[in-house]
Amino acid sequence: MPSTLDLETACEPMNCPKCETHKLEATRVNDVELDRCSQCRGIWFDAHELDTVLGLDSKETHALKKGKPDDWLNRKHARCPRDGSEMLRVYSASNHEVILDQCGKCGGIWLDGGEFAKLSG
Ligand SMILES: [Zn+2]
Ligand SMILES: [Zn+2]
Repeated sequence: MPSTLDLETACEPMNCPKCETHKLEATRVNDVELDRCSQCRGIWFDAHELDTVLGLDSKETHALKKGKPDDWLNRKHARCPRDGSEMLRVYSASNHEVILDQCGKCGGIWLDGGEFAKLSG
């Protein structure tokens, strides 16, 4: 059984890695629970969630495509909202125009607002 402390940590809202002043809000797409910032519209995907979500029907992911990229946020170095590690800038395998922020420790991926729309085409 997980301890109470673990449960509390898991339920604690994470801070947005880009604008930092906002908490991420849980949003559900199909069976996948994502964390999203209502201010900059960025989306946090835990390891492998991005692949899962990109494989879904576009009707299901429509809501994730809102927002437009913000140059300032795009250039900003982010820290992983889960473990605080510095995120790496990596080119997306599916669209080389999109640079993702990926955590080298937990493998989670941050997409800035509008980047999901570019990836899903
Ligand atoms: Zn934000
Ligand atoms: Zn991480």
